[in-house]
Amino acid sequence: MNVFNVAKAAVSAKDVAAFCGIKINRNNMCLCPFHNDKHPSMKIDKRYFCFACGAKGDAIDFVSAYFGLGLKDAAIKICDDFNLSYDSSYHHPPQNIKPKKSDEQIFKEANDYCFKVLSDYLHLLKEWKIEYAPKDESEEWRPYFCEALNEISHVEYLLDILLYGEVSDRAFLIQDYRKKVIDIERRINEHTARRKANDKRFSRMHGECR
Ligand SMILES: [Zn+2]
Repeated sequence: MNVFNVAKAAVSAKDVAAFCGIKINRNNMCLCPFHNDKHPSMKIDKRYFCFACGAKGDAIDFVSAYFGLGLKDAAIKICDDFNLSYDSSYHHPPQNIKPKKSDEQIFKEANDYCFKVLSDYLHLLKEWKIEYAPKDESEEWRPYFCEALNEISHVEYLLDILLYGEVSDRAFLIQDYRKKVIDIERRINEHTARRKANDKRFSRMHGECR
C-alpha cells in the first residue's frame, strides 16, 4: 500500500489530534486548532469537522493543516509518528516542523510591528520638531520640521486606533499602511545609522582636541 492508504487505513483524525496534544472530550469534541476556539467546536473521530470555521478532513488533512505540510509529507509524517511501514522508493521525513501560525498570531504580530514602528516614528518626529525648528522668521522651514508638523497628530491618531480601536479598524489600518510602515522603518533605521556615524565622528574630533 502507498503512504496515503497506509496512513488513512491505520490512523484517524482523532489519533493524530491526540498525538499533537489536543485534548478530546468524551463526546469527541475538541478545541479547533484552526481558529481561535474558546469552547470545543470541532467534532473529531475518523474525520474532523469544525462547526465554527468549517475546517474538515481526514487524518492526513489534519496533519497537513496543523503543520503546514503538503499532503504527501503529512502522510509520511503520520507513518513515521505511528511506526507504520509503507511501500515507497522515496522517503525523507520532513524536518524542523513548526505548527503553522494561526491567523490571530499573524494579526497580533502585524499589529505589534505597526505599533512599534509608528511609536518610534512619533518619537523621532517630536525630536525633529525641536531640532529642525527655524531659528528665526527669515529661515526657511526645513523638510524634517515640515514633516513633523504634518505628521505628528496623524501618527498619534493611528497609534490610538492600534491601541484602542475595533479589530476591524485595526485590520484595515494594518492593511492600508503596510507599505508605508515598512518604508518608515527603513527611514528610521537609516536615520539612526547616520546619527550613530555622526556621534562617532564627533567623539573622535572631540578626542583629538584634547
Ligand atoms: Zn475551527
